[in-house]
Amino acid sequence: MVADKHTSEEKHEEKHDVLKATQVVIHRALEKLGYPEEVYELLKEPIRMLTVKIPVRMDDGTVKIFTGYRAQHNDAVGPTKGGIRFHPSVTEREVKALSIWMSLKCGIVDLPYGGGKGGIVCDPRNMSFRELERLSRGYVRAISQIVGPTKDIPAPDVFTNSQIMAWMMDEYSRIDEFNSPGFITGKPLVLGGSHGRETATAKGVTICIREAAKKRGIDLEGARVVVQGFGNAGSFLAKFMHDAGAKVIGISDAYGALYDPNGLDIDYLLDRRDSFGTVTKLFKNTITNKELLELECDILVPAAIENQITEENAHNIKAKIVVEAANGPTTLEATEILTKRGILIVPDVLASAGGVTVSYFEWVQNNQGYYWTEEEVEEKLEKVMVKAFNNVYETAQTRRVDMRLAAYMVGVRKMAEACRFRGWI
Ligand code: GLU
Repeated sequence: MVADKHTSEEKHEEKHDVLKATQVVIHRALEKLGYPEEVYELLKEPIRMLTVKIPVRMDDGTVKIFTGYRAQHNDAVGPTKGGIRFHPSVTEREVKALSIWMSLKCGIVDLPYGGGKGGIVCDPRNMSFRELERLSRGYVRAISQIVGPTKDIPAPDVFTNSQIMAWMMDEYSRIDEFNSPGFITGKPLVLGGSHGRETATAKGVTICIREAAKKRGIDLEGARVVVQGFGNAGSFLAKFMHDAGAKVIGISDAYGALYDPNGLDIDYLLDRRDSFGTVTKLFKNTITNKELLELECDILVPAAIENQITEENAHNIKAKIVVEAANGPTTLEATEILTKRGILIVPDVLASAGGVTVSYFEWVQNNQGYYWTEEEVEEKLEKVMVKAFNNVYETAQTRRVDMRLAAYMVGVRKMAEACRFRGWI
């Protein structure tokens, strides 16, 4: 039998299929809002999905063929928008789910975009600078027909950064025969990047933590915070929490976790982390990621990868609030368990929307050719995030649903309305 041949990892993957999980919540949200079934049929998958092969000349002279994807979920509201991840475990279904989440984020923070997402199956940790440049440029050439400043605007995601955005912008500008800074966001400042983009996701998460703590009567001063992941979101978040007077007692990377009940020295850890967020290898006394998630704390922030809180460990989570800085860190089963236990979950599609919000600001600045100060960006981000948080929180209260379903209801509504006005449904 075929099923018997599946490895336990494949079974885990199947069980925690992020696309299926997203579709379930989209369906529930549309049902609650009273939309007919065909709206779900349209929104359950991206309207466009491109799979490409990218030949790259490696430094040793051999040619390696990489697989890349670009998913465009829905462009009724406006051009699609979303990051590109470089990771060995990228799959087509994952990229599809990530593009749907981008649509939801854009709806929740009310941006004039639909969602998109890209991914390349590769491990940038084992590639040289020049190999990464060739891969980045090759990917842009392969997807150039369906992207562009008014079509689909990429950005950074897991293991991609402003240098990669710069190469991609340069490649696109050559194809387009124009300088096209609005093609991609998350660029270096000198190439039309925005102040505050690098820290935007963490800033947005910080605002959500502050608002959620208020709702639960938790004082941030002295609150015990655990952050899983020390990449772009996790590392800056640990810093912001530390600066806000909270005690960051646990952090982790892909290889292990650090724990100190008296609070970790975040500035030292930030100084020692590498560009992929690895830091725990420098220490002997580490704990596992599993132990980290189950630590006694007030606020837990999964800021790494998908499916970290599942039905297996949800009963052991001791935090009062879980704020999802990563995309898809909590399964639906775990969401139900945590909600029943009275733990407040601030879902990914809300908590991590600060990144795309400042990406939108970057694109607006590129389009108008006039640039804002860091203070202006921060002030605007603060307003957007507070409004989005309260909108989702109130929807959860009035419709008596958890924050995830409430966020999906808010996120999907604008898209469905845009499709209706366009006469698509
Ligand atoms: N990759 C980020 C996300 O998942 C940011 C996307 C963007 O800035 O467009 O939200």
